[in-house]
Amino acid sequence: MIKTVDLHCDTIVKAHRVKEPLRDNDLHVSLNKLRQGGALAQCFAMYIAKRFETEPSLTGDPMMDRYEVILSHFKKEMAENRDMIRQALTVEDITENDKNGLISAILTMEEGAIVGNDLGKLDRFHADGVRIFGFTWNYENTLGYPNSLDPEIMNKGLKPLGIEAVEYLNKLGIAIDVSHLNDGGFYDVAKYSKKPFFATHSNARSLCARTRNLTDDQLRILGETGSVTGLNFCDVFMRLKSPDEPRILPIGDIVWHAKYIVDKAGEDALAFGSDFDGIDNELEFKDASGMQQVVQALSRHFTSSQLEKICYKNALRVLREVQNV
Ligand SMILES: [Zn+2]
Repeated sequence: MIKTVDLHCDTIVKAHRVKEPLRDNDLHVSLNKLRQGGALAQCFAMYIAKRFETEPSLTGDPMMDRYEVILSHFKKEMAENRDMIRQALTVEDITENDKNGLISAILTMEEGAIVGNDLGKLDRFHADGVRIFGFTWNYENTLGYPNSLDPEIMNKGLKPLGIEAVEYLNKLGIAIDVSHLNDGGFYDVAKYSKKPFFATHSNARSLCARTRNLTDDQLRILGETGSVTGLNFCDVFMRLKSPDEPRILPIGDIVWHAKYIVDKAGEDALAFGSDFDGIDNELEFKDASGMQQVVQALSRHFTSSQLEKICYKNALRVLREVQNV
């Protein structure tokens, strides 16, 4: 069995919302399912929706209020399940946890709106163990613009604060995530970042013409900069479908994108970014417990050295190059 690193799931927010325990539940990701699927490390995204901006707040910062709620839920789950999973702050922590038979949890963020005009908040996020930071979700914010069908929005660069954020995140040792960002923002991250970066959950746009996916030119740049994209298991980011087609993702579609991305970006640029519990389709391999079925299918098309890179080495390499310890 080759263990896997998954760069993105929405499980911690969903588990909090539906009041399901992390250890055992009906979601895509539970600790038991991660163990069964051979997880080395799971990234848990704190998605702090922009709509919280307008919620009433005693502190005057409703997005930070929401952050505190999700963070404390995550920390509580980590404390209650220390026999199965530990938060990792460094790649060395991941190795150490694995030696002790433990899965690693990596805390990440999605939607940069939370920083507002204060990049100082990034210090707080780093102190809490956030190691990957996504600039946008699907709305404009103070850092930049989201992926869009409107070419004018799609091609705008990062805002000045976004460019400053790139430099500040590099300095702090937090990896930048360009998934959801627009094309202009992608190119600015590639231009200004001194460290490799992630598209934590994006596929190939040539195979599936969605603005959330990466163009061939962007894939080439990932390869050139040592950056990595994580395969997203959302069926509509894999293949354009007619509305009456069943919403089940076949493993073959994952293999199809994997081969294409390795061909365009190289074998050092691919990882997994499942989007578990953020996607509403079914999966041929059911959930996180079936990850080894995906690994098995990929093993028929890649050498064992390539497969190890896709499963965990590429993700860990970028984390190691970015981390500041
Ligand atoms: Zn997402």
